Amino acid sequence: MSAPIVRPLAELRALVRGWKSRGESIGVVPTMGALHEGHLSLVRAAKASCDRVIVTLFVNPRQFNNAEDFARYPRTEHADAELLGPLGVDALFVPDGDEVYPPDHATVISVSGVTAPLEGAHRPGHFDGVATVVTLLLNMTQADRAFFGEKDWQQLQLVRRLVQDLKLPVEIVPCPCVRAGDGLALSSRNQRLTAEGRARAATLPQALFEAVARIEAGEPAEATLAAAQAGLEAAGFAPVEYLALRDGETLGEPQPGRPARLLVAAWLDGVRLIDNLAVTLP
Ligand code: AMP
Repeated sequence: MSAPIVRPLAELRALVRGWKSRGESIGVVPTMGALHEGHLSLVRAAKASCDRVIVTLFVNPRQFNNAEDFARYPRTEHADAELLGPLGVDALFVPDGDEVYPPDHATVISVSGVTAPLEGAHRPGHFDGVATVVTLLLNMTQADRAFFGEKDWQQLQLVRRLVQDLKLPVEIVPCPCVRAGDGLALSSRNQRLTAEGRARAATLPQALFEAVARIEAGEPAEATLAAAQAGLEAAGFAPVEYLALRDGETLGEPQPGRPARLLVAAWLDGVRLIDNLAVTLP
């Protein structure tokens, strides 16, 4: 059985009212669809700690800084509902674009600081789109807990900042990145890779794992990252937009004694891949 698809906001609100009146807790998993095991791991985590689970499916036009990327983004709503049915999802909320952003919509949520470097520098407007839609989805679902993947590390830090700053009554639950057998982080965009590109794509996580091991063993970060980047370029990644060691929370310069993160964005086969790993500085 497929998960029930709910489209009008009024219908979602009626469901949520009923659940809340019975004292049931609500978890939400925001997605853009084309679901894979990474998304499903978030749904399982939500099911494990919430009475009711809403998965949202909205390909948010405001977070695409490239119209072609938006047009080409995979849309597989019915297959998504079928995947979610057996997991016991209570509602797959698929709002219409016009209901999320009516023509007179005029409010943009913008989080500074954590959004400035890396993805923020390379994708102008992207994080304003993310912050705005996440705020809307949290308000629409009234969830007690919201589940986000560590796959999108900078986005997760943005969401934490946003919820703290706006004092939103929701707990943000981070979930580990799910990888394919060869290490590639699962992503809806992976299906756009050619078979040959998909085979080569594992070079990306391998380069990250190797660089983290070297940095943790005390090798100088700058030289290690330069070598890793050269390896990726030799493997056909073009361009490597960034490969950077940052503070895990602020995304600023890494600080001794604080968790650090190695983050990468690189193109292969015309597909933009991102990944990240934790680093314990020596
Ligand atoms: P998306 O549909 O790409 O917007 O992703 C929806 C949510 O799923 C986000 O919180 C992502 O971080 C999370 N997600 C995507 N891929 C993975 C993965 N491989 N492992 C864990 N979470 C993921």
